[in-house]
Amino acid sequence: MPTPQRKVPFNALDRQNGGELGARMADAARRVVAGGWYVLGGEVDAFEREFAAWCGTRHAIGVGNGSDALELAIASLGLPAGAQVAVAPNAAMYATLAIVANGLEPLFVDVDPRRATIDPQALASALTPRTRAIVSTHLYGTLADMDAIDSIAREHGLAVIEDCAQAHGASRDGRRAGSFGTLACFSFYPTKNLGALGDGGAVVTSDDALAARVRQLRQYGWKEKYDVTVARGRNSRLDEMQAAFLRLKLPLVDGWNARRRAIAARYARDIRHPAIEVPPVHGDDQVAHLCVVRSERRDALRAHLAACGIGVDVHYPIPDHRQPVFGERYAALSLPVAERLARTSLSLPCFAELDDAEVDFVVDASNRWSG
Ligand SMILES: *Cc1c(COP(=O)(O)O)cnc(C)c1O
Repeated sequence: MPTPQRKVPFNALDRQNGGELGARMADAARRVVAGGWYVLGGEVDAFEREFAAWCGTRHAIGVGNGSDALELAIASLGLPAGAQVAVAPNAAMYATLAIVANGLEPLFVDVDPRRATIDPQALASALTPRTRAIVSTHLYGTLADMDAIDSIAREHGLAVIEDCAQAHGASRDGRRAGSFGTLACFSFYPTKNLGALGDGGAVVTSDDALAARVRQLRQYGWKEKYDVTVARGRNSRLDEMQAAFLRLKLPLVDGWNARRRAIAARYARDIRHPAIEVPPVHGDDQVAHLCVVRSERRDALRAHLAACGIGVDVHYPIPDHRQPVFGERYAALSLPVAERLARTSLSLPCFAELDDAEVDFVVDASNRWSG
């Protein structure tokens, strides 16, 4: 009889949301149910205060999900129709969709091959007189080069929106993701470094006027009840149940991030294979939302690890400018780094509740690959 194969899942949310934390969340859920108030109430207020303080911003505004956070943050800038927003093409369309939904034009800029975040040099040379803002995504949990992006933005008078949906808690020189840009957006989708038990998101900013605008936009454009004073309003609210869960999890995120980083560091140190490139792990500016390795023979590596019982995935297989929805619109646009990363990237299991034996198993299986 062959020994049954170990299975290493790509994610296992039941491990985080069960146990002692699960019991505390169940208590919180009972409290919310009994409280009789379910949308935008005391739990959301408290979470917004706690999350803003944690990020180092003056304001946090809870919204329905990370995509809405991006769309509302961009809307709050009030850019003229036809304006361009610079964006990296390798982050699964989230920011691009938000730009297009606002009637604006994405200006695709290639990424830095090391960090896979927007390349400041490419950004500086791509700008046109119509460019009014930049979305900077801290992809896979690695902070983009915010110093360089910020100085370009200042020089050209551009707003900067950080997409922090994969980077909760990442920091550089004591400043956390979300505190660098004009506004910043978070998702609390269950698999994120801070995840709810459903959808959720937030916009953070230290600009009082923009915060007030986003607060209106998330609730029909209301100034007061039924008094609509800004355009592009909608319903995108965080609910009390999710806010209560997020409040319980927020103090645990730094510890979880340290564990994610340790797993990524272990892969970087111990996966030794000539056809697998494992990115180095930096300091606190990386919270290892995903551990993405690269291989010219990615699909063969993917099949090998899957056959070993390891959950793997590709983030992301289609660059934005190659998405079928755009037809031939960007056919002539070549962004070689993003295109190569889409062909070569493979994500290994990397979440805080992965145990050491599972990490060993992934390392061994990678090193055993005949590719
Ligand atoms: C998950 C994610 C989003 C979207 O968040 P949702 O809550 O799923 O809408 C946006 N940007 C990035 C980089 C993400 O990873």
